[in-house]
Formats: sequence, C-alpha cells, structure tokens
Amino acid sequence: MIIELNNPLFKQALPILKQIESHGYEAYFVGGSVRDYLLELEIHDIDIATSATPEEVKEIFPVTIDVGIEHGTVIVRYKGESYEITTFRVEGKYSDFRRPDTVDFVRNLEEDTLRRDFTINALAIDKEGQVYDYHGGIADLNKALIRAVGNPKERFNEDALRMLRAIRFASQLGFEIDSKTMEAIKELAPLIEKIAMERILIEFTKFLKGKFFTTQSHTLVSSQLYQYLPFPKTLNIDDLVIRLNNDFKPFEDNNIEKSDVLVWGNLLFHLGQIYEQDDRQLMRQWKQSNETTQQSIVFKELRKMSIDDILEPMNLYRYDTKILKLIEKFYLIHGFLTTPLITEKINQLPIQSRQEMQMNGQQLMTLLEMDRGGPILGQLLGEIEEEIVNSRLANNYHDIKKYVQLKTL
Ligand code: ATP
Ligand code: MG
Repeated sequence: MIIELNNPLFKQALPILKQIESHGYEAYFVGGSVRDYLLELEIHDIDIATSATPEEVKEIFPVTIDVGIEHGTVIVRYKGESYEITTFRVEGKYSDFRRPDTVDFVRNLEEDTLRRDFTINALAIDKEGQVYDYHGGIADLNKALIRAVGNPKERFNEDALRMLRAIRFASQLGFEIDSKTMEAIKELAPLIEKIAMERILIEFTKFLKGKFFTTQSHTLVSSQLYQYLPFPKTLNIDDLVIRLNNDFKPFEDNNIEKSDVLVWGNLLFHLGQIYEQDDRQLMRQWKQSNETTQQSIVFKELRKMSIDDILEPMNLYRYDTKILKLIEKFYLIHGFLTTPLITEKINQLPIQSRQEMQMNGQQLMTLLEMDRGGPILGQLLGEIEEEIVNSRLANNYHDIKKYVQLKTL
C-alpha cells in the first residue's frame, strides 16, 4: 500500500529520511505517528527507525542530542524540531519483566517490528509513502483492534507495562482489545507490580484522559490490572468506574480534552467519598509530581463545596485561580452552571493579594509600637485582610488604622 505523505509534519521530516538514505542506510517513520496518520487523527511527534547505528546517525546530522544511546536512540534537531531516531533493534533477554538486559542492533525493519508492542504500533512508512505492515496492523486498524505483535504472553512477560499500554490505547482510540491479548493480560496482570511507578503513571494518566474513556473504562476492570495499582485495598472498582464515567462523559460528548488535574482531582474526590485515605500519601505512591498533587487536592476540596460556597469572596481570594477556573469549567460542561462567573467575581474583589493591602506588617508594628513580629501580628493582618476581601473594611491606611485602634483598645 502506498499513501500520500501530505501531512505537514511528515513533509517537514521527509528530508531526514532522505538524508539518512543518501548515506546508504534505510530509514522509516514508525510508531504512533504512522498509526494516527492512517486513522486520520492529528499526529504529534514523529519517530524514525533506521538501519544506521547511533554513531552513524550522529555523523550524518550536525546537531544531535544523546538520550539513550545504549537503547539505540539519538535525537536529531532539524529545522527547529526534535526527532527521535532509533536504530533497528531486537531486545535481548528480559529477566525482570521490564527492560531488556541487552539491546542488539539489527539491520532490517522486519526484525525491529517484532519488538514493538501492538500490531497498530508496528507499522512503518518509507519516504515514498510505502507502508510496511508485517503483522496485520492495517487490518487491525480497520477492525479497531488492539492486538499484541506475536504471542501476547511472551510480549507481556518481556515488558509488563505493555498490558497497561493496551488499556490506554483502548481508551485513547476507542478500540477493543483482541480476546487472546486480553486473556494474556488477565493472566499476567500481577506482573505490573514489577514496573517502575513512573512508567505506570504516564500510561495510567493517558488511560484516564482518553477520548473514549467511558466506553473503554471497563477494560481496567476486566483486565484485573486495577488490583495491582495503588488503590485503597477495599476498592469497589465497578463503583469507581461508574462515577468517573459520569464525570467524563460530557467531556467526551463535546470533544473537550481533560487535563491531568481534572482526572486526578476527580479520582481523589471519589476515593475520598468512600474511603478513609491520605491524599498526599496516595499521590506519593503513584509518584505524582508535587504540583499535580497539590492542584488535584485543591480541585477535590472545591468539588466538595457548593457553587455558592466557591463563590464566597474569601474562597475566590484564597484558592488558586487556575483550579477555580477548572472547577468552573467542570460545572459548566455538566450544566450545573450556565455562565462563567469566576473571572469576573475575582476581578471584583477589593484586593487580589496581600501585597495590595494598604497596611503592611512593618506599618502595623509601628502603629502598635511593637519591636518585632509574631503570631499576634500575623493573626491581626489576616483579620484585616479578610475584612477587606469581604468589603467590610475599606482598603486605605486611614480606615485600617481606625479598625486596628478599635480592636486593640
Ligand atoms: P503516543 O501517541 O502516545 O506517543 P506511541 O505509539 O507513539 O503513542 P510511544 O510510547 O511514543 O507511543 O512509543 C513509540 C513506539 O515505540 C510505539 O508505537 C511502539 O511501536 C514502540 N513502543 C513504545 N513502548 C513500547 C513497549 N513498552 N514495548 C514495545 N514497544 C513499545
Ligand atoms: Mg510517540
């Protein structure tokens, strides 16, 4: 099959294939970009596979970055873009269910495709648009099927993360998982515990954010994978999935992307409704970043409040604007709110931050004839701040001074 490479990203990367070939090696577009292009989806980053070794690739291009030479990958910078170029390889023995112990470079594409996870990810295109499909990937794209390359049990024993990747692609593409592939996952699901949490988190977050989550979320249950992920021990997975489906359905219906904080914030909210749990500890188990943890907890806190409570001046003042807008978006999409209010209400607040108060700590100390700060000063400043935010006290030095004098009589 020959296809027309009329996607601008492919066009821009085409000279890289040509340049590698002009040095006597083979080079192909591979992986996600090929899959997504054939599905007529937007493509993001372009991966290239080549018969040239990393050293040989580095000799061809003036600007390269070493990222994983031992795995055969170099990044080539070309016209302001980065491309991952990986040497054809077969993976050596896997003794620990995760990464191969050794990587052997090979000189042909077909052998390289044997180490890829799913047939739809094992497609390649050359510079003429010729498609190479050694494992029935095109047929599976047409059938909307996720099927392991070769023997699924062997593939999941080699790298257990692939099981989680299967459900994440199901959620992203709305595909079904081939029955033999699913049987293998059910059997080998416990192996997921061998995988580094950082890799799990990436795939699981993509699963939650998938455009087809609500129709494919059942794969988390039927695959048994949930049992080996950091959830509360007494988790009722069916209930959790129903709750998340309700949350995410309108996003899918309206083709709106879900952010990391939206999916994790809602997950924390539902877990918190049912289980006693320490959110920070849970997020640490998932190896979440501090930023996503913090923001997801704020989202959860806001979701526990009524809309009227959220709109209280002190809450608008205190909570991160970004998360306030996110909960607003959530309620708008769900139809619980009909017009956006948050930005306007925040702009109407008498002050946006403590810096805008017309009385600072130093001035207050002078006023009270104190020679150093302390808890009382902090508390008083906090009270003044709250009075101003609630429009009960005007934000000018004179009025604040009067307020302080009355308070400290
Ligand atoms: P995305 O659109 O999310 O980037 P992708 O298919 O490009 O999807 P990547 O994780 O970027 O996924 O991997 C690129 C390619 O490398 C895959 O398409 C697949 O061929 C191969 N691959 C990645 N991870 C694995 C793995 N754990 N086992 C086997 N092959 C893998
Ligand atoms: Mg990719």
